[in-house]
Amino acid sequence: MSAVKEFTIRWGMVIDIDKCTGCGACMVACQTENNIAPQPEASNKLRSLNWMLIYELNNKKSYPDHDMAYLPRPCQQCGNPPCVSVCPVIATDKNEEGGIVSQIYPRCIGCRYCVAACPYHVRYFGWFDPVFPEGMTKVLTPHTSVRPRGVVEKCTFCHHRWNYAKEKAIFDGKNPKDLPEDAYIPACVEGCPSGAMTFGDLNNPKHKVYELSRSKNAFRLLEKLHTQTQVYYMSRREWVRKQGDNYLANDKVIGGANHAHG
Ligand code: SF4
Ligand code: SF4
Repeated sequence: MSAVKEFTIRWGMVIDIDKCTGCGACMVACQTENNIAPQPEASNKLRSLNWMLIYELNNKKSYPDHDMAYLPRPCQQCGNPPCVSVCPVIATDKNEEGGIVSQIYPRCIGCRYCVAACPYHVRYFGWFDPVFPEGMTKVLTPHTSVRPRGVVEKCTFCHHRWNYAKEKAIFDGKNPKDLPEDAYIPACVEGCPSGAMTFGDLNNPKHKVYELSRSKNAFRLLEKLHTQTQVYYMSRREWVRKQGDNYLANDKVIGGANHAHG
């Protein structure tokens, strides 16, 4: 796999699994912000699009040692995104301004190579035209396009919110390249009632994610693949950190100061 490109700004998220209650507020905030049409039958997995999905984990032990956790999973915004290199029409790209992996809907030809290449299963193909309940079209987010059927979509860290924050900084006479921590936050982070998600520039020591992503309890999903994701997780529980990378019984756990950063 090729080396990870370095960018001045690297937008990233740190999700504290020990704080997540699995309430699903992040999923709802994401659906609303990104104009994802509700499905007529929520249990129909073929039709449902979930840019943010919550997985339930457990330590596979019986009571009284049973323990469980919830893992919210957006696009991991890989530093080395396998989905980008397979796209034949450059409909997805690693944005060099902040490292967000883009999705350019009008270019996408729906071949779904990227869906197969993504090891995190975060890309969704729209099999059906979106259908919004009566009246809902009046409250769609104006900065997010509604996708037709036949293209692939995924989480973009609410990229439109970043564009807005940059424009606002310019309008206010401030530097759009040095935004304060709370100027740009994705909808899921804003909507989390437990404060389990922290967002910011992983390269900026003034942002909380800088320190959190380097903490001894931080880990990334499938770190062994060297995708160098910009989404980090944290947990004090070793069994949770182990499940993040599909460790085998005798493997040494990668975590905290031992894991490669960048
Ligand atoms: S489905 Fe679209 S984004 Fe994915 S590889 Fe094909 S053209 Fe590119
Ligand atoms: S998580 Fe999947 S869709 Fe997101 S950047 Fe990585 S490979 Fe691409």
